[in-house]
Amino acid sequence: MNALIYKSTGSWYVTKTEDGKIFNARIKGVLKISGLTSTNPIAVGDVVEMELENELESTTTITSIHDRKNYIARVSPHNKNQHHIVASNLDQSFLFATIKDPKTSQGFIDRFLVSCEAFHVPAVIVFNKADVYGQKEMDRFDELKSMYNGVGYTVLLASVVNNTGIDEVKEFLKGKTTLLSGHSGVGKSSLINAIFPELNLRTKEVSDWSGKGMHTTTFAEMFDLPLEGKVIDTPGLREFGLTGITKQELSHYFPEMRRRLNDCQFNNCMHTNEPGCAIKNAVNTNEIHVDRYVSYMTILDTMEDKSY
Ligand code: GDP
Ligand code: ZN
Repeated sequence: MNALIYKSTGSWYVTKTEDGKIFNARIKGVLKISGLTSTNPIAVGDVVEMELENELESTTTITSIHDRKNYIARVSPHNKNQHHIVASNLDQSFLFATIKDPKTSQGFIDRFLVSCEAFHVPAVIVFNKADVYGQKEMDRFDELKSMYNGVGYTVLLASVVNNTGIDEVKEFLKGKTTLLSGHSGVGKSSLINAIFPELNLRTKEVSDWSGKGMHTTTFAEMFDLPLEGKVIDTPGLREFGLTGITKQELSHYFPEMRRRLNDCQFNNCMHTNEPGCAIKNAVNTNEIHVDRYVSYMTILDTMEDKSY
């Protein structure tokens, strides 16, 4: 029988079949999985085949895993040389951000977007806490929105406190499987709970933003939305890291650069000091936002020669 992985609790997986039955599944022996080696053979979002183990206890054995449409991985917290698959079979990824309380840096947003591009997962940026933005913060929001819209990303604005923008966020979640991420404290759980009170995601108090106890390992978990669709919450996951990306590839993951790569004079152009660089020309004519180019250079700087 066929089931979807909703949660991993170490050695057991919480799965749900198409007719809505929940089973606790586990792996026995070695599963054949194509693709990358990771610390977790099965991730939230995976579709698996399983056999009934004990009907009374609703336990099953996973016998195989279906090919993944896509996945998001990060460097394993335990072993720098291994990957950990955060979630798979995603339609999109939401990055929750804030201009204020706490401020999400543009560098962080751009690294997130690069990860999503590299893993072929469409990204949407949701700015929350609009109620605390003054004129300065609204100006900054407008600037970021126009910059990211220009690249091709959707940017939403919401406030849980003022109950604004919530319906728009809801509309984007409808019928899709969405990975939720963002720095802790931006109001991701509050916003999802405001849309779907029945989900009851864990929220934190403001005092916990940078406090202790926030670094405990937490697993991704998938929730069914009342209106068709699913969300995958990743509590405590701050960043995916740019796992498996080479310096040479980086510009492919900036869509506004990717479109222009063929116009550079050298086909191995890194867009730093080379003559006839279409990317630098586009920055000079404001067709590429200088702040995005700065992010590109900053990320490039932090990458090792082979891969990050
Ligand atoms: P998460 O870590 O991103 O899931 O953030 P939480 O949902 O736990 O929220 C963190 C804090 O921000 C809580 O104290 C919330 O009450 C507060 N918060 C959430 N949304 C808003 C908002 O739209 N405006 C304001 N002013 N505070 C908010
Ligand atoms: Zn170039």
